[in-house]
Amino acid sequence: MCTICGNLVGLSRRALLTGVTCVATAAMAPMLLGTISPASAQTPVSPAEAAQRLADGNTRYVGGEARNTDYSVGRAARAAGQAPYASIVSCADSRVAPELVFDEGPGDLFVVRIAGNFVDEEGLASLEFGNAVLGSRLIMVLGHTSCGAIEATIDVVQNGTELPGHLPALIRKLRPGIEKAIAQNPADLLAAATAENVRVNVAYLKAATPIIAEAVASGELDIVGGVYDIATGKVTMV
Ligand SMILES: [Zn+2]
Repeated sequence: MCTICGNLVGLSRRALLTGVTCVATAAMAPMLLGTISPASAQTPVSPAEAAQRLADGNTRYVGGEARNTDYSVGRAARAAGQAPYASIVSCADSRVAPELVFDEGPGDLFVVRIAGNFVDEEGLASLEFGNAVLGSRLIMVLGHTSCGAIEATIDVVQNGTELPGHLPALIRKLRPGIEKAIAQNPADLLAAATAENVRVNVAYLKAATPIIAEAVASGELDIVGGVYDIATGKVTMV
């Protein structure tokens, strides 16, 4: 069963508790048949609390003090629903695993992954679902060091390199941030381009009407950006 569809029940709980006021929840409400998820009954955290929880988890991970190591804990409860407190837009890079980076377990994070950690329309739709239906209170766009997608885009922009297959589609999405970084002539272009790509996607999400932008305006949701250092494990906000 699709993870998302399997948890549409989460909306029914929120709608019952708070009233269906959001466009998204109103539109999705007819799809729900009243099943209540125990997991979604948890009180949502604030955006600030969500950010702090991520930071604390990353500190434990960097320090080798991760406490989420037995992923069988809570398995039965998770079968009934999900209530992730934060959403992460991460690169597909095999060295970047959001649940590990933030020392969280299954059910805690709603993760959208794609090479170059950018947000396209389908990714946006997923994030809308994570916020409006599942109750995520924070979206973090997470870049990382040594990103091959960013390096490839720099190469294409600077050298006109032609990539095979569908890879040019990725480059088109990453160009805005990379070109902005190149124009600034930074000492470390890869680092600057990685950070700029994060900022571009944070700005895109903040303006993404109606669902995300309205949730940000109401204070229910915040959008932040970070870069994960593969060598140290530390996430630095950008
Ligand atoms: Zn990457």
